[in-house]
This record gives sequence, C-alpha cells and structure tokens, in this order.
Amino acid sequence: MEEFADIQCPFCGQTFAVAIDPSVAQQCFTTDCEVCCRPFEVVAECEDGEIVSAEARSA
Ligand SMILES: [Zn+2]
Repeated sequence: MEEFADIQCPFCGQTFAVAIDPSVAQQCFTTDCEVCCRPFEVVAECEDGEIVSAEARSA
C-alpha cells in the first residue's frame, strides 16, 4: 500500500505529493517535479508502515 508525502521541489520550490511505499524502511528514488518537470531525488525513511521523513535532494 502506498502513502503520500509532501515534498518540496529543490528547483522551483513547489510542494506536491509523491507516492512512497511505507513497507520499505529506507528508500531513495528519482521523481520529476509536477510543476517544472525537473528530476530530483527523494530520500524517505519509514517505520511500522508509516513515513517518518521524506526529503528532496537535487540530483
Ligand atoms: Zn519544480
């Protein structure tokens, strides 16, 4: 099951929701900003099926 976390784009500063699989404790994936379409990395930590933290990193 997927959860959504609000992530802020490091390029344009827009916040939007990205889908994260909370069953994975540590994950890192690339997504495209919904607004400016530039790719950046999302680093997420989850615990007990919940998102503990999610942050954007410019790739
Ligand atoms: Zn953007």
